[in-house]
Amino acid sequence: MEQSWPCVGCGYCCIRQTCTFGRQRHPQATGQLCPELTWNGKRYVCRMMTLSDSMTAFYREQLQAGLGCRSYCNPWRSEVRKRTVDEMASVAGESYYGEKAKKKAS
Ligand code: SF4
Ligand code: SF4
Repeated sequence: MEQSWPCVGCGYCCIRQTCTFGRQRHPQATGQLCPELTWNGKRYVCRMMTLSDSMTAFYREQLQAGLGCRSYCNPWRSEVRKRTVDEMASVAGESYYGEKAKKKAS
């Protein structure tokens, strides 16, 4: 049986690449940190997973919420904390996080 790795909220997957739904909901944020990604003091969470509208179940199903981490070898998993802009840029590419994103993350 395939091993399942739980999501620990390290943020790596979403910071590395905004998903289709994040881009569709926030076209103005192209090339920036996904506006739905939030640091809650302990871990990163996606606000879309906690909305109470009719689309929430669809988003959760499409993004496979609760089914584990597919980026289980990434180095951030072992140290969950709020990441600096430079750390974000190191996994997403410098061009991904421009000046606007730096201001938002600081
Ligand atoms: S990389 Fe894995 S552990 Fe980190 S936020 Fe994404 S799913 Fe969760
Ligand atoms: S919409 Fe949610 S799952 Fe998609 S990239 Fe943004 S924070 Fe991650």
